[in-house]
Amino acid sequence: MGLRIAVAGAGLSGAVAGRELAEAGHRVVVYDPRPHVAGNCHTERDDATGVMVHRYGPHIFHTDDEGVWDYLRRFATFRPYRHSVRTTVRGRVYSMPLNLLTINQFFGRAMRPSEARAFVAARAEPIENPANFEEQALSLVGRELYEAFFKGYTEKQWGCAPTDLPATILARLPLRFNYDDNYFFHRFQGMPEAGYTALVERILDHPGIDVHLGTAFVPDRAGDWDHVLWTGPLDAFFGHALGPLPYRTLDFEEFRDTGDWQGCAVMNEADPDVPHTRTTEHKHFAPWESHEGTVLFRERSRACGAGDIPYYPIRLAREKALLAEYVSLAEEAGGNVTFLGRLGTYRYLDMDRTVREALDAAAALLAAWGARRSPPVFGCPPL
Ligand code: UDP
Repeated sequence: MGLRIAVAGAGLSGAVAGRELAEAGHRVVVYDPRPHVAGNCHTERDDATGVMVHRYGPHIFHTDDEGVWDYLRRFATFRPYRHSVRTTVRGRVYSMPLNLLTINQFFGRAMRPSEARAFVAARAEPIENPANFEEQALSLVGRELYEAFFKGYTEKQWGCAPTDLPATILARLPLRFNYDDNYFFHRFQGMPEAGYTALVERILDHPGIDVHLGTAFVPDRAGDWDHVLWTGPLDAFFGHALGPLPYRTLDFEEFRDTGDWQGCAVMNEADPDVPHTRTTEHKHFAPWESHEGTVLFRERSRACGAGDIPYYPIRLAREKALLAEYVSLAEEAGGNVTFLGRLGTYRYLDMDRTVREALDAAAALLAAWGARRSPPVFGCPPL
């Protein structure tokens, strides 16, 4: 007889882990407070234009994990998609991420790779162990490039000084001394042809899974189930008993036009006096489609309040101390709840990591139940 498992959240984490447990013969019921599956990677076709819109901002699938890539392609056809981003600095457009074209454009030069490498190295500040985002950037590219491309954008995105942010955030962006402007360095990159929501619907389409949308899972009911997978915010499970774990949320100002409004999928705005961080033109995420109309989002970041949708966990020293308290609470509660995913483990996760951790968490749960051991409290340790 299979176990009765509740999954709180129909995003990638909940869908993938739920599917694995259902395939192993357990009975899975998935709850999500929103009226759609796929969490923040939800996509929907805009009625008026036919454009596939990334409702909660741009999501581009990229990975080096062949297992994850093969897994997702069981449920969707992925179309080749190469993400290339531009950024506007003081009225001029530059190539992103920082590459040889950006460096030559910015300094008005025509340097070859070895010349640019030496040129940037001469500007980089000698900081031995960069302790924060700003030090990391200064030690990599020097003050001029840092102030033009990273400082303003990062202050707007995170609402704090880059000296308060961890150096790891910058590690997301490549620095290249050639003309490759692919935003990611991963081997596999693509867009699900019918959108992320169709992909997640297919993952959840299994006779052992029931999905209840528009229905929040109530943590107090955890005792009614053999096991609960909680992919909502860690602090929400405990009714924010120790105070809220802070996030940044996003506001999208939608506008429309015809034709091609900005010529690329994402245009960043690096200047501090431009209030939005980037503009997304959704039709460019599906270059194999053709639409007369176009839908764009101007994106702004701000502190996440009660009732807002959480996007980016803010993991500064104070927040990590609070996180540690919630982790202790979760470990003490132990028993039949496993916390999973971006919100459940309070980490800045890309989609491929989310899928990998969901697959691994399901395998760990099955192994623990098989061996009559206690199941893991976290899909991946949050600290
Ligand atoms: N970033 C920046 N300038 C840019 C783009 C990114 O300073 O033009 C910094 C910023 O701090 C951001 C981080 O790099 O939060 C990671 O950027 P990424 O594009 O990966 O962010 P995401 O798409 O996940 O919001």
